[in-house]
Amino acid sequence: MIDAGLPLPARGVFTTRTGGVSLPPWDSLNLAVHVDDAFAKVQANRDLVVEQLGVDGLAFGKQVHGNGVKVVRSLSKRTSRGIDDTDALVTSERGIGLAMMGADCLPVLLAADGVVGAAHVGRPGLTKGVLTGVVRVMRDEGAGKITAVIGPGICGLCYELPASMAGEVEKAVPGSRGTTRQGTTSVDLTKGAMAQLASEGITASCVGGCTLEQPDLFFSYRRDGRTGRHAGIVWLA
Ligand SMILES: [Zn+2]
Repeated sequence: MIDAGLPLPARGVFTTRTGGVSLPPWDSLNLAVHVDDAFAKVQANRDLVVEQLGVDGLAFGKQVHGNGVKVVRSLSKRTSRGIDDTDALVTSERGIGLAMMGADCLPVLLAADGVVGAAHVGRPGLTKGVLTGVVRVMRDEGAGKITAVIGPGICGLCYELPASMAGEVEKAVPGSRGTTRQGTTSVDLTKGAMAQLASEGITASCVGGCTLEQPDLFFSYRRDGRTGRHAGIVWLA
């Protein structure tokens, strides 16, 4: 796991693919139930993470590449709960781990005094403003100064997309369009996420690097297709 370095009492980590019980091609710390891995293995992996982090439980968004934000106010002890139709979660309760999964899309963790948030940022979510959405809900919940950390995701040198698609993202979030190593059009999700956060007055840091380029460390849908999901997890200690 990679520590996000959030200011206490907020804590945040990005899980890697190592340290779990899932078999190939989900090896080994797959946290997603929707990718055909054995349910018992995913549950065991989630339990391992709960144990390691010392949280009461994890709330997972059932991610739909949208901009839906939900506030989590309670969680049964040590359960892993899936929350429908959401790509961002916010809580002001201690001990609830908010988990956002990815395998190229960015998990983004946000922390303020007494409020934390997590978002799943892929191309559609970025275009629809999921980060703007989560920041506004955090502010409604009383957040002052917000710290943001962007986790591992596919980089702008790897994430080739048709020019028309990259153009749509660029139009919604200027600064998102990039160029691959081959000189073709790409989207730089990290740059886009930073730009969207900057428009809310938030400076973000980045950890983890490119998922596609680090097969031993991270899942990558673009690289492997059938594979698992790692996660960014944030909580109030
Ligand atoms: Zn890359």
